[in-house]
Amino acid sequence: VSRFESVTMAPPDPILGVSEAFKADTSDVKLNLGVGAYRTEELQPYVLNVVRKAENLMLERGENKEYLPIEGLAAFNKVTADLLFGANNPVIQQGRVATVQSLSGTGSLRLAAAFIQRYFPDAKVLISSPTWGNHKNIFNDARVPWSEYRYYDPRTVGLDFDGMLADIKAAPDGSFVLLHGCAHNPTGIDPTPEQWNKIADVIQEKNHIPFFDVAYQGFASGSLDTDAYSVRLFVERGLELLVAQSYSKNLGLYAERIGAINVVCSSSDAAARVKSQLKRLARPMYSNPPVHGARIVANVVGDPTLFNEWKQEMELMAGRIKNVRQRLFDYLSQKDKSGKDWSFILKQIGMFSFTGLNKAQGLFDCTEVIKVERDYFWRNEFGNVAFAGVILPSERGGN
Ligand code: PLP
Repeated sequence: VSRFESVTMAPPDPILGVSEAFKADTSDVKLNLGVGAYRTEELQPYVLNVVRKAENLMLERGENKEYLPIEGLAAFNKVTADLLFGANNPVIQQGRVATVQSLSGTGSLRLAAAFIQRYFPDAKVLISSPTWGNHKNIFNDARVPWSEYRYYDPRTVGLDFDGMLADIKAAPDGSFVLLHGCAHNPTGIDPTPEQWNKIADVIQEKNHIPFFDVAYQGFASGSLDTDAYSVRLFVERGLELLVAQSYSKNLGLYAERIGAINVVCSSSDAAARVKSQLKRLARPMYSNPPVHGARIVANVVGDPTLFNEWKQEMELMAGRIKNVRQRLFDYLSQKDKSGKDWSFILKQIGMFSFTGLNKAQGLFDCTEVIKVERDYFWRNEFGNVAFAGVILPSERGGN
């Protein structure tokens, strides 16, 4: 008898579990629309050329494998904050940002959650309904209470803006509001610039603390600046806020686990104290972060030629996803004879798409849609797909 008899079998992760099932499936028309990882036209994973070049540089320099400080690689921390806020942003120049390199987007969110739990034990976090599945796990494990705000409106396959504002207003003052900086996962629906402004109004009124999850900067629109619009707007309005960053998608560094948590404070003194506490939380959790991805980012951004090449490769990835989206729109518009307006498919952004399709609507049978779209994707009429679109029937995003 095992000493671990009382340990029950955990359910498979709803997203990464799909990848396991995908590997095990022997079908030759299979396509994994679960995990959010970019694929080339040939359906292959993509390592960016700039990443290869940066790695060659690193090899040539023969860098060592000593531990990083708890807060990570200084050169990385500098460029990651510059990319996010803009190097000339007063918050950077005044030393008001606490930046700590962490284990990609997930690890950065988790570290921030531990920070919230410790310093704001009575606060709760508001998350969008729906949201990336792991958000709930992260706050649950960190013992941070959360509740949802309305976000997706199935009637318009768009943003439930009034519902969102009402729920943010109704939350206790001083709550944390988790916002997807760009390319909302899983709906692909982002607020417009005017809507972001109104969201900021309400958050400011309520004395809430915005907490941005930025997993797709540059990968969503193809422009690093466009995708940082929401974060920079809130910073410009003088709000203190948190931002978790990830380089999984925009530099294709999925397995390197490279990202950061940034806390914008109203004084450099507060920033220094916040940073010291983030380090204190990180030390017993994972001691210090991995160096490889941090050096890649620092090298790519620090070299003007590589930096320009990166921007081009990001445009290429974002452009390809937009193209797939256009083809999905064309396909659905042509296939569906009901006169339904499918243009929301084109308004959505990023790797995920809500189609608004379900069985009850009777437009298509779900299984048929999966089959048709599998065939459609698989036959490469679109090119393939990083586009983890059309996930039916549960409609959720990936990774
Ligand atoms: N946040 C969102 C909204 C995401 O979609 C993802 C990945 O899909 C992440 C965070 C974190 O990814 P990672 O931990 O690989 O950076």
